[in-house]
Amino acid sequence: MDTKDLWRQILSEIELEISPANFATWFKNTDLREKQNDQMLISVPNIFVKEWLEDKYCKLILKTTRNHLPEIKMINYAIAIQSPAQPQIHKSEESHHAKEQLTFKESYVDPGTNLNPKYTFENFVVGAFNELAYAAGQAIIKNLGLLYNPFFVYGGVGLGKTHLIQAIGNTVKKQKTSIKIQYISAEKFFKELIEAIQHGETNLFKDKYRACNLLIVDDIQFISGKNAIQEEIFHTFNALYENNNQIIFSSDRPPAAIHNLEERVRSRFEGGLIVDINTPDFETKLAILKSKLREKNIEVKQEILEYLAKTIKDNIRELEGALNSILSRSYLFSKELTLEEVQKTLSKNIKPKKVITPKEVIQCVANFYDIPAKNLLEKTRRKEIVRARQIAMYILREDFNASLPFIGQKFGGKDHTTVLYACEKIKNEIKINERLREELKYLKEQLYNIV
Ligand code: ADP
Ligand code: MG
Repeated sequence: MDTKDLWRQILSEIELEISPANFATWFKNTDLREKQNDQMLISVPNIFVKEWLEDKYCKLILKTTRNHLPEIKMINYAIAIQSPAQPQIHKSEESHHAKEQLTFKESYVDPGTNLNPKYTFENFVVGAFNELAYAAGQAIIKNLGLLYNPFFVYGGVGLGKTHLIQAIGNTVKKQKTSIKIQYISAEKFFKELIEAIQHGETNLFKDKYRACNLLIVDDIQFISGKNAIQEEIFHTFNALYENNNQIIFSSDRPPAAIHNLEERVRSRFEGGLIVDINTPDFETKLAILKSKLREKNIEVKQEILEYLAKTIKDNIRELEGALNSILSRSYLFSKELTLEEVQKTLSKNIKPKKVITPKEVIQCVANFYDIPAKNLLEKTRRKEIVRARQIAMYILREDFNASLPFIGQKFGGKDHTTVLYACEKIKNEIKINERLREELKYLKEQLYNIV
C-alpha cells in the first residue's frame, strides 16, 4: 500500500469513530507526508487544524494508525503551504465575460507601492461607525508625519480597515507623486524579512522600508509572539518616526489586546492616535450597497437592498458578497430576482433562525467538544463542560436572540444572571482570543451545515 492509500484507509476508519461534521472539519485536506522509522508526518491545512488534531484527536489517530503500522510511536503535523485561492477567481472572471462587469479588478496592485487602486475615498461610505477613523485619515493626509504618528486603526473583520488605510495611501500618492509609499501586510513583511535574512540581503530590506515617507502595515496583530518581526518593526518605526515619516497600522484588536507583544513595541503603537471602526447600522449598510451598485451601474429594488442590509450583520465584506451573488444570479437568469428568490439564494449564507432548535444548538456544541449533551444541562463545575455550556448560551443569545430567562430554562433552570455572565464572558473573550474565534467559526459551520 502506498502512503496515499494508507492514509485514506486510516481516514476511513477514523470517520467511523467521530461525527461526520467533525470529520469534515478536521480531517479534510490532511495527508500523510512521510513515514520514517517510528514517526509519521501528517500535513494539515492550517495551524488551527494542527492544534486541534494534536489536542483532541492525537490518541485516536495514533491508535488507528497503529492498526496498520504497529511500529509508529509518534505523529507529527506540519502545515502545508497552500496554493493561493486567487487563480480560481480569475478563471471564472475570464470564462464569464459578463461577470467582469460585476467584479472589480481585484488583483491589480501598483508594483511601486503595493497599493490596490480600487480602494479610494470616492467609494468609501462614511457613517457613524467609521467617521472618526475617516476624519483621522483625512487629517493625516493633510499633515503627513506631523499630526498622528503612528495612526493605529482597529476593528473586526470585513469592516473596512484595509480599504481605509489603502485609500489614505492612494490619496497621498495622487497628491504628492514624489512621496515614497509602501503598503504591506504584517505577514508579508515577515516573509520578506525572513527571505532577506536567508539571502543575506537584510540591508536591502531595511533600506526599502526605512526610506518610506509613508509606511502602511496591515493586520499588525500578526506579529504577536514573533520576536524577530517585532524587533524589525520597532527599528523601522523608530527610523521613520525620527524623520517625521508617517506610519499607519491596522489591527483586528487594540494594542492592549495583542498578546505576546514586547512592551516597547506596544508603547510605540499607543504613542499616536488609536481609533476603532465599529459595525455599520442599517442605514449605512443601505448606503454601502447603493454605492456598490452605482459603481457597477446596476439597479436593484429597494426592498431587496433593505432585506440584505437587515439580514447581513456586522460585516461589509459579506454584505458585498451577498450583493454580488444575487447580481450574478440575476445575470444568469437574465431577470431581476424577486425578494423570495433573493431569500432563497442567500439562505445558505444566512443564519436560519427558525429552522434550528435550541436543542440542536446544544447538541451541536456538545458534539463539537466531544461531551455528552446531557452534561451541558447538569449542575457541574467541570471546566470543560462549563466552557462548552457558556459557548452554547452565547450562540443562542447572539444568533437566535433568545432571552436570558429562556436560555436559562433550556439549561436546566439556570438563573438569568448566569446566562448573562456566560454571554458577556464569551463575547469579551472573542475579541482577544483568536483560537476561540476560530473555534466558533468551525462550530457555526457545523451548526449551519455549511461544511
Ligand atoms: P477589513 O480590512 O477590515 O477586514 P476590508 O477593508 O477588506 O475589511 O473591507 C471589506 C470589504 O468591504 C471591501 O471590499 C471594502 O471595499 C468594503 N468596504 C469596507 N468598508 C467600506 C465602506 N465604508 N464603504 C464602502 N465599502 C467598504
Ligand atoms: Mg484587512
